[in-house]
Amino acid sequence: MGCCDVPGLMPIEDALNAMLSRITSISDTLQLPLAEALGFVLAEDILSPINVPPFDNSAMDGYAVRRDELMLNGPLPVAGKSFAGQPFIGHWPAMTCIRIMTGAQIPTGCDAVIMQEQAQVTEQGIQFSVSEVKANANIRPTGDDIQQGDVVLNKGERLTVRDIPMIATLGVSHVRVFRKPKVAFFSTGDELKPLGEPLQTGQIYDSNRYGIKPLIEKFGCEAIDLGIIPDCPTQLTATFEQAQVQADVVVTSGGVSVGEADYTKDILAELGEIGFWKLAIKPGKPFAFGSLNHAWFCGLPGNPVSAVLTLYVLVQPMLAKLAGHTAWQAPLSIPAITRSRFKKSPGRTDYQRGVYSIENGQFVVESTGNQSSGAFRSMSLANCFVVLEQERGHVEAGETVNIQLFNASLY
Ligand code: AMP
Ligand code: MG
Repeated sequence: MGCCDVPGLMPIEDALNAMLSRITSISDTLQLPLAEALGFVLAEDILSPINVPPFDNSAMDGYAVRRDELMLNGPLPVAGKSFAGQPFIGHWPAMTCIRIMTGAQIPTGCDAVIMQEQAQVTEQGIQFSVSEVKANANIRPTGDDIQQGDVVLNKGERLTVRDIPMIATLGVSHVRVFRKPKVAFFSTGDELKPLGEPLQTGQIYDSNRYGIKPLIEKFGCEAIDLGIIPDCPTQLTATFEQAQVQADVVVTSGGVSVGEADYTKDILAELGEIGFWKLAIKPGKPFAFGSLNHAWFCGLPGNPVSAVLTLYVLVQPMLAKLAGHTAWQAPLSIPAITRSRFKKSPGRTDYQRGVYSIENGQFVVESTGNQSSGAFRSMSLANCFVVLEQERGHVEAGETVNIQLFNASLY
């Protein structure tokens, strides 16, 4: 235990290590048409079967010339055309030029393309108004972007909107990817009402599933929504059983604390095993991790900020590992100067919600206000977490803190 550890609360780094050391990646793969592969993790390196571009071609609309003929400064008659997809073929007579368009193949013997803005059509041919022309000017050589055999993307990378057209330029129509992890999730609580129905006394809307589903999908997993389950041990047990046969991971929200209607942990202990419970983080202390017979288990606290935060901070790295997404990186941490006070007591690592901006090249950060774990507005307004170390107390305006910029999953 470190100097500031609280008995019974596991530091977040230990929790992450404990989870990651147990998870092994899914090895099932599938072959997908490229257009359907967005968001999947590559199960193979992508090597280029061709040079890109596959032939020397023009970067400009203009005229293909031989520089030694150009030096003579006389007009050069046009001997033919090379258009994109319709190359010039045949003999190219001396002391002539070839009309050429962007993307068109460079005729054999050509060592420069002169853009049409530097050319004038005269009766005797094309008169060029250029003084010095570099060898291979305006020519995009074969393999300029990618050489045949180059590794363009690596196994373990998750395919982005930028990667798909990259692979398409290689002519690769199908890619081998890992199966996406399946995550079944449900909300627990007698007080929870589905959207669209009026609230009775003591009820609130179930907002957590609306954060959990898109986050799971943005983490590159398949989400299976099992709805709202009341605080009833029989129904909860049945749903756990149903969930674990459908999914690789079961995620619940609520019922994981120490209240009299908190059954999640007992059911986990009965059906599987509790890996750890209760972390030295705020919000999110009651987070539970463990295993069921057929699936991993993550119990998120019910408070909406805690649920999204623990999913993001703890479950996301675990899902990345499960998905074989070895290129995954933790969200970027940057030092910033506080522009407001952050209340904090020592003992837990705080993930307060902040808004960062850049002033004179320096990151600065302000609190989003009410930091209650039930006040979701603090998440909606934020663009970063202000991560305050376990041992730290109140932070005054002007102090330096570490901020963690939200990654793309929260947008
Ligand atoms: P629990 O973890 O079940 O003790 O719940 C903690 C707090 O979060 C309580 O105020 C619950 O009403 C609230 N809560 C639990 N589940 C949800 C949910 N799905 N959506 C919104 N609030 C919730
Ligand atoms: Mg509850």
